[in-house]
Amino acid sequence: MTRFPEHALYIHGEYYQATSNKTFTTHNPATGEVLASIQEASLEDIDVAVKSARAGFKIWSKMTGTERSRILMRAVDLLRERNDELAQLEVLDTGKPWQEASVVDIASGADCIEYFAGLAPTLRGYHVDLNHAFGYTRREPLGVCAGIGAWNYPIQIACWKAAMALACGNSLIYKPATLTPLTAYKLAEIFTEAGLPAGVFNVISGGADVGNALSLHPGIDKISLTGSTATGKKVMAAAATTLKQVSMELGGKSPLIIFDDANLDNAVSAAMLANFYTQGEICTNGTRVFVHKDIKDAFIERLVNRTKQLIIGDPMNPTTQVGALISQDHMEKVLGYIQSAVDEGATLVCGGQAAQVEGLPQGYFVEPTVFADCRDDMTICQDEIFGPVMSILEFNDEADVIERANKTDYGLAAGIFTQNLARAHRVIAEIDAGTCWINNYNITPIELPIGGFKLSGIGHENGPEAIHHYTRLKSVYVELGDVDSPYA
Ligand code: NAD
Repeated sequence: MTRFPEHALYIHGEYYQATSNKTFTTHNPATGEVLASIQEASLEDIDVAVKSARAGFKIWSKMTGTERSRILMRAVDLLRERNDELAQLEVLDTGKPWQEASVVDIASGADCIEYFAGLAPTLRGYHVDLNHAFGYTRREPLGVCAGIGAWNYPIQIACWKAAMALACGNSLIYKPATLTPLTAYKLAEIFTEAGLPAGVFNVISGGADVGNALSLHPGIDKISLTGSTATGKKVMAAAATTLKQVSMELGGKSPLIIFDDANLDNAVSAAMLANFYTQGEICTNGTRVFVHKDIKDAFIERLVNRTKQLIIGDPMNPTTQVGALISQDHMEKVLGYIQSAVDEGATLVCGGQAAQVEGLPQGYFVEPTVFADCRDDMTICQDEIFGPVMSILEFNDEADVIERANKTDYGLAAGIFTQNLARAHRVIAEIDAGTCWINNYNITPIELPIGGFKLSGIGHENGPEAIHHYTRLKSVYVELGDVDSPYA
């Protein structure tokens, strides 16, 4: 017996029995309990989803932006009304603390749909005067898009991808991560209830094979992935077979640079948020914390005092600040990185172990961990860990820290703490990262684009920029005179 019944796919406005005869299970990472069996899509099911999305697209793309906006806004209201119910499901499936999910995950998803619903009626081309002619452009939807999600922010990622795609008049087939599939189906139910035409938002489940089939499918016009860089390379290669457009939100190993004039309490708060929020399972995390040598000891002292006070516990308990990692495999990977840091000579200043939570012996909990005396070449300073492990690196010189911060194949995010505004802007301009913060960290207002450079991604989500990634531009020349022909 599982807590929830077996989950079918969601195609054309209703649940749809997969034909693969294959299922997989999703677990509660805090208890190990099996939550539900999830049906896996077969290649035939994917074809059905694509046909349905094409039919949905025909209706949706012919609506005006205002009509689309009205339906999306109804979905926003439903998401907000059901915030607690959805947050509870998200906590069960991800192991993240209720105190985060109840105020961030659904709220951010709803905000994003609201933002793009607001932009939908404003989409437009432009007019060009050409003397005896004129030209204009049309900003058209791409058609059928596919979204492939990561497991760390399941409903937020689904909402963000749906917001951009749907506001622009596309339909979207969404494949959640196998570890956290539950809330994407709830989003599909909400869209149907809000009046979205059938087929405009379909959800199918499965792992790499299903994601690969979507990336290869000739009936899909665009693929948007949130996941690891390794997967990004595979998806892009598969998408190239039909020259699909791609957007990629991938991994990172981001620097957080704290200068000697920084407000120390704010810098410590940001470093903790940049490493321990959602148990460290956040792509943009500032895991390489460069601290100026003159304030390093004071910084570490305050950091350790506050980190030791973090409450690790049952994710459903509203006082819990650090929940469970997503799976046993992932916990072992994170603990392996901690061991590598010890072996390579970093100084463990707090945490470093699997945490025991009373009543939850099967949970995948890891203590928030801080290493000092790190070197740039240590494994924990090079690899994306995706867990609650912070590395502190000392620096003395601005030019040197910029060079060290940029010495990574990733370029997702970066942060800098200083009271000197000239230095803040000077340094940020030199940093090779797509999403940067000055005197804060990991704040992602929907109004600002988010995206990565180098191996961290292609394209942007959110902000007005995203419209360009979900539309195509048609150029039209209109003759007002005669055709000037050289032929007799
Ligand atoms: P992952 O790459 O293993 O999986 C991501 C998704 O891709 C899943 O739905 C998976 O089923 C699918 N997939 C796997 N192989 C595929 C293939 N060959 N073809 C098509 N689809 C395939 O990543 P994950 O473990 O779910 O998530 C963690 C990673 O995601 C981290 O690297 C993290 O930094 C990144 N991430 C990035 C952002 C961002 O906005 N930049 C946000 C969240 C997570």
